[in-house]
Amino acid sequence: MRTYTINDFEKQFPTDDACLEFLFKARYPNGVFCEKCGKITKHYKRTGMKFYSCEFCGMGVAPTSGTIFHKSGTPLRSWFHAIFLMTSTKTGISAKQLQRELGVTYKTAWRMFKQIRKLMNENIGPLNGHIEVDETYIGGKRAGKRGRGASGKTTVMGLTERHGKAIIKVVPDVKTRTLLPMIWKNVVSNSTVFTDELPSYNLIAKLGYTHKVVQHAAKQYVCGIAHVNTVESLWSTIKRGISGVNHSVSPLHLQSYLDAYIYRYNHRKDDCPIFLSLLDRVATLRRGALPS
Ligand SMILES: [Zn+2]
Repeated sequence: MRTYTINDFEKQFPTDDACLEFLFKARYPNGVFCEKCGKITKHYKRTGMKFYSCEFCGMGVAPTSGTIFHKSGTPLRSWFHAIFLMTSTKTGISAKQLQRELGVTYKTAWRMFKQIRKLMNENIGPLNGHIEVDETYIGGKRAGKRGRGASGKTTVMGLTERHGKAIIKVVPDVKTRTLLPMIWKNVVSNSTVFTDELPSYNLIAKLGYTHKVVQHAAKQYVCGIAHVNTVESLWSTIKRGISGVNHSVSPLHLQSYLDAYIYRYNHRKDDCPIFLSLLDRVATLRRGALPS
């Protein structure tokens, strides 16, 4: 992927108007259909307003309506800057850092942070091929015993394609009845599923998958293709990110943090910089379609 730098950002989006123009073009790539004129007409930006008006009848469209920027008192450029900051590193940034960088109040930074993270909640189609499945515990102070979830820790399940996409979800526990339906729902049948020796995974082959087990207890971390290194390296990135950037995350917000991590991870190989593709999502996703 081409790196999109802060210089690129300054050059492409020097003003609020430049941001609005980008949004306008992203929302109406084929021009605006004017209801009154009954055809696609040219629209011009109204000076000092967030409106574009039809060249004939003056009817207006607002590119921000229905987006996360709708009725926000924060300048559009600050929003764009926030999206840039949240997409330009692997681990993202915290609301506190956002507050400092944008010079807004913590309350505003937190609200923007939450809205942008919602955009990063993306439905990934079922995974295919060689899939590694694993669980981990995030948060809390002490190391937890597996399967019991030490107090304050949240159980998280990960499914990753090798060299491909990943799905990470908060789950209530690591019981068979929790983990197997997740695999069934998110992995194409005939795939090969790699797990460690947790008994909850014993019935995977019964679901029609090829099941390969990695014997962690016997220190057989990498035996040929039977390993779960992909998902484990993802865990370490996420945990490093949470302790280094966000310090701690309440269980209530954990899934939304994970969505942001996984969005960046799943788009790491895209040709289009993540910042620009996320802006496209702003333009095309209505707020009603976002999680509450
Ligand atoms: Zn018109």
